[in-house]
Amino acid sequence: MTISSFKPPRRTLMGPGPSDVSQRVSEAMARPTIGHLDPYFIGMMDEIKSLLQYAFQTENELTFAVSAPGSAGMECCFANLVEPGDTVIVCQNGVFGSRMKENVERFGGLAIMVQDDWGRAVDESKLEAALKANPEAVLVAFVHAETSTGVQSDAEKLVRLAHDHNCLTIVDAVTSLAGTPIYVDEWGIDAIYSGSQKCLSAPPGLSPVSFNDRAAEKIKQRKTRVKSWFLDLNLIMGYWGDNAKRTYHHTAPVNSLYALHEALVMVQEEGLENCWIRHENNHLRLKEGLSSLGITFIVDEQHRLPQLNAVTIPEGVSDSLVRGQLLNQFNLEIGAGLGHLAGKVWRIGLMGHASNAKNVDYCINALASVLKKAA
Ligand SMILES: *Cc1c(COP(=O)(O)O)cnc(C)c1O
Repeated sequence: MTISSFKPPRRTLMGPGPSDVSQRVSEAMARPTIGHLDPYFIGMMDEIKSLLQYAFQTENELTFAVSAPGSAGMECCFANLVEPGDTVIVCQNGVFGSRMKENVERFGGLAIMVQDDWGRAVDESKLEAALKANPEAVLVAFVHAETSTGVQSDAEKLVRLAHDHNCLTIVDAVTSLAGTPIYVDEWGIDAIYSGSQKCLSAPPGLSPVSFNDRAAEKIKQRKTRVKSWFLDLNLIMGYWGDNAKRTYHHTAPVNSLYALHEALVMVQEEGLENCWIRHENNHLRLKEGLSSLGITFIVDEQHRLPQLNAVTIPEGVSDSLVRGQLLNQFNLEIGAGLGHLAGKVWRIGLMGHASNAKNVDYCINALASVLKKAA
């Protein structure tokens, strides 16, 4: 049997990521592959660094893209900042907090969990109590935008509390970057990671990260070697750092980085604040459309994420039937619920390039049509 070229269908991606990739970004990705130590490529990597500094609102030198998806950015933060025996406070209010716990434990730390119900923001008073009860803690980790539930926590307040108790912070901003305000320097976030395929709308497979001087200092002061060779920042910085002595570490995903570069140029052209406002406006438009269908959100209004709308599946409606029809008849992908929310909620993403009025209206009309038939 001869297998022929793969031709994927053209979907509208309104789930939890990946989001729609624009023509401009796709075209950038198709440009000629050059060597990863070619001076042109190195120049482009320096531009990515400064574009990422803008997106994260930071002047951190240690800002770059890990050559792997958001989960690798997470692992990079924990691998470098957790040493065996460290106590780490992990706030969990959805799926992604449990992965942070896994990371802490795999790198030899002790995870103290601060639990909040799924669909609720991280409760600052619970974090404060945990910090007081565990004065030996050295790190606090939390998810800024919980994609599993559509909740946004108050990163600025959580970071301030951690610092008041001499802890550094690791923040998951995979879904928040470019979708909702983040000010890495102003808020004092010590280590942060994101993903290319959510509100940046580049293809999946890259994880922007940034570390401030305090985090870099903790890494330099480690008593033990970082357990992961690939993610050891001491080695990676020889590659992404000072370009005069760039040394081979691994082969960068050249064309994926072209795509990330173009996506970041588009954010710069639009302006970061305008980008946040666009996400908010399209969320409000979606909210209006959903309410005309009698569909309600699972999250309190003040903690809703504009880029990820978690809504209750109406009584008696089959989750898989509706999502199947949206995909097959409308080429429209929306997300299913995760964990105990599976079958109970839909997660409608309005991320990056997919966050536009046309998509909102398309989704509402498609949902209306499918639900009418299902009734
Ligand atoms: C998507 C996501 C991740 C994981 O990113 P991958 O690119 O899938 O590895 C981590 N945290 C949050 C909050 C996410 O939404």
